[in-house]
Amino acid sequence: MSTPSWVPDQETKPAPMPLLLVQSFVNTWDGDHGSDLLLDPAAARDWLTRAGLWSADRAPDPAELDLARRVREGIRAILVANGGGPQPAPDNLEAMQAVAQASWLAPRVGPSGQVSLRAEPAGRVEAGLLALLLVIRDAQRDGTWQRLKACGNPDCRWAFYDRSHSRVGAWCDMATCGNRIKNRRLRQRQR
Ligand SMILES: [Zn+2]
Repeated sequence: MSTPSWVPDQETKPAPMPLLLVQSFVNTWDGDHGSDLLLDPAAARDWLTRAGLWSADRAPDPAELDLARRVREGIRAILVANGGGPQPAPDNLEAMQAVAQASWLAPRVGPSGQVSLRAEPAGRVEAGLLALLLVIRDAQRDGTWQRLKACGNPDCRWAFYDRSHSRVGAWCDMATCGNRIKNRRLRQRQR
């Protein structure tokens, strides 16, 4: 299977589908390069459309992009906790809670009888964000959620999927962030 176009090129530890969608959403902010795909309306529309999270015939407005970025950082705060960091603060979760209150799921029964859930209201950013919450909920039920973590390097916080047997992975990449932080801690101890 080829990698979907909405997955960052440098993704070395991808989550299984559909959790990969949540991971790629979190990684629309790249601390290493200082880039943010959810800042410019045209760029955000392009990425969200390719990821299946946006269907409206317009670009998201600034308030919608602000909500999307706050949801993204809320998810990242949970991924920090998944990586062994502190639990998310109440205000980390406010944007996700606002999405949960402003949107809903509509069940559909397809022609072969398969039941699906469509996020509403269609045409608003909340629907796409609710679709992400649904993926998170499923991952929390099947046990894959705890493996999605934010890198332990505070300057990085890249979301990675920990496939290690022991589930103790802490870095997006040992060669870069892992050694960087270990060397920093070593220097602090030596002082
Ligand atoms: Zn990292």
